[in-house]
Amino acid sequence: MATALTLPSFSDINLSTFEARLDTLLSENLATIETILKDNTHYTWENLMIPMDALDDKIERFWSPLSHLHAVVNSKELRACYQACLPKFSAYEASILQNETLYRALKSLSKTHLSSVESHILTDQIQAFELSGVSLSAEKKSRFEAIQTRLSALSNTYENHLLDATQAFTRHFLDDTRLKGLPSHTMAAAKERASEKGESGYVLSLEAPDYIAVAMFADDRALRQEFYEAYVTRASDVGPYALKFDNSPVMNEILALRHEKATLLGFEHYAALSLATKMADSSDKVLTFLQDLAAKSKPQALKEIDALNAFAKTQGQETLMPWDLSYYAEKLRQAKYAINDEMLRPYFPTPNVMQGLFEIIHRLYGVTLVALPGVDTWHKDVMVYALKDNQQQTRGVLYVDLYARTNKRGGAWMDSCQSRRALTQTDVQIPIAFLTCNFAKPTGGKPGLLSHDEVETLFHEMGHCLHHLLTQVDYHAASGINGVEWDAVELPSQFFEHWCWEKQALSLISAHHETGETLPDALYEKMMKAKHFQSGMAMMRQLEFSLFDFKLHMGYDSRAPHWVADVLAKVRQDTAVIPIMPYNRFQHSFSHIFAGGYAAGYYSYKWAEVLSADAYSRFEEEGVFNAKTGQDFLKAVLEVGGSKSAKDAFIAFRGREPDISALLRHNGIVQYAQTS
Ligand code: ZN
Repeated sequence: MATALTLPSFSDINLSTFEARLDTLLSENLATIETILKDNTHYTWENLMIPMDALDDKIERFWSPLSHLHAVVNSKELRACYQACLPKFSAYEASILQNETLYRALKSLSKTHLSSVESHILTDQIQAFELSGVSLSAEKKSRFEAIQTRLSALSNTYENHLLDATQAFTRHFLDDTRLKGLPSHTMAAAKERASEKGESGYVLSLEAPDYIAVAMFADDRALRQEFYEAYVTRASDVGPYALKFDNSPVMNEILALRHEKATLLGFEHYAALSLATKMADSSDKVLTFLQDLAAKSKPQALKEIDALNAFAKTQGQETLMPWDLSYYAEKLRQAKYAINDEMLRPYFPTPNVMQGLFEIIHRLYGVTLVALPGVDTWHKDVMVYALKDNQQQTRGVLYVDLYARTNKRGGAWMDSCQSRRALTQTDVQIPIAFLTCNFAKPTGGKPGLLSHDEVETLFHEMGHCLHHLLTQVDYHAASGINGVEWDAVELPSQFFEHWCWEKQALSLISAHHETGETLPDALYEKMMKAKHFQSGMAMMRQLEFSLFDFKLHMGYDSRAPHWVADVLAKVRQDTAVIPIMPYNRFQHSFSHIFAGGYAAGYYSYKWAEVLSADAYSRFEEEGVFNAKTGQDFLKAVLEVGGSKSAKDAFIAFRGREPDISALLRHNGIVQYAQTS
């Protein structure tokens, strides 16, 4: 197949005409759909699905360069343009998903002559229409729409309450007497906050960086307790701002409406609706999965808490209260595994890490990353690479933007710029991805040095990019990261992280920036021990959140006034390994599930970890650079994108369904798992 390589020209984006051109594009798309529906009485893959796929592709190619610029070189003009465009997409999408003629056309398509990939895409699309209420009666549809509108307002209220409650609390200190132990960067920020208010001394807030610093480092126990009480009662009926920003009624209404929405669509409860678009087969499967992990991890978590208690006693602390846990955990970690970012950083100069990363990709998948010079980008630091297979065919193009700078959004992420798609029988459009990080820029002629966390982040995002770029699917709807079930999206990324914990791989990506020495064994051992520190407790915490979220959405009883608290209390009977105060209102600030997209989906974090650990364990068995195993993963998982179910893709690679034991072992929990 010939490949058509046209890269976006970022410098030609004209903001003054962009919005108008988007309007034209979207209305042309809608007109095309009308024409397709009018011109045909008998619908086929060729006259319906292929043109529809092309419309989505057109939007992605038009929108993604601008949306990317908005994230990486933001300006007032870009923001204005971006925000003006966003609502147009929601309106466009709604008008498509509410188009009953289009829905009926999709339903009329016979699957007899479709390939399995085509059939999978069609099933997904029909489901998307049905989940947006298109097939409901007029009366139910209007109720459905009212629920949707109300739910989005409620999520917003929940988030605002939490924000207001967090911001309401500050503490002013005239001097540093009570602030002993806090890191210097926390103190500097606290001082600055005070002087912004025209005051001397220090102001601490309840924002995460301050709260974590107090919990972990403040020697003043009463201070830790005060912050703990304020933090765990945010947006609730108790605590320093009791009832002022109370999320209790908001949560109840959200849960009632979600339940009603699910039943309108014919599901037993909201959890079942959530699973309709996920890899997990059933609610039972999710519960068993979480409970199994909890049962295997709890003995280890209990041992860890015993060790923490014993350590605290040696420090003169007889009984550990919730506000003591992070504080003594940090002291114990320092005592046992004195290792920090700064000790590892000199071994990870960015150029060596990148070179090693490319070598690992080459060994696993047989593809080479070749720099493409002279490509139009948004900043001189951006590198562009073609991924070439061993026939020298370009499989994809990757834009790498590693360094932090002003007007660039924080964090690290990957995004699709364009997706693979067959253009004709012989031509294919190649996929393009953006890989963005925010590492410190090299200074003074020295290379940028990465912490091991940052190396892991880089591998994670590269894992997503490889998923998008190595795909062989011919349709936009299912190529690369498109159409992948929500709870399996993180499989390729978390999977790829494993290599930066692997000794053989570390010798490829590490080289001391002064001596060239690879990471010494002693440091490697410390790094691995520190990785497992309190991993049982961390696991139990995540499982508690996941079980609470999932059970909360398995029905709703409007007659039980304390339903949310009751569900949480019941979950904690099985999962809690640390003391909890009766006034703890964690549920009032669990915005992942009440204001974010994780409702009945929080389990996905652990789910994807199990998938990726289990997939990786085949490499542990067969060799971490075994090219045959690499090819199998490429063919079974990376190349298929969203063109078949993630479960089938996983089974094709692993030869069986996912198993939790590899994850337990990677967390250092295996020895207890085997004896329990
Ligand atoms: Zn990710």
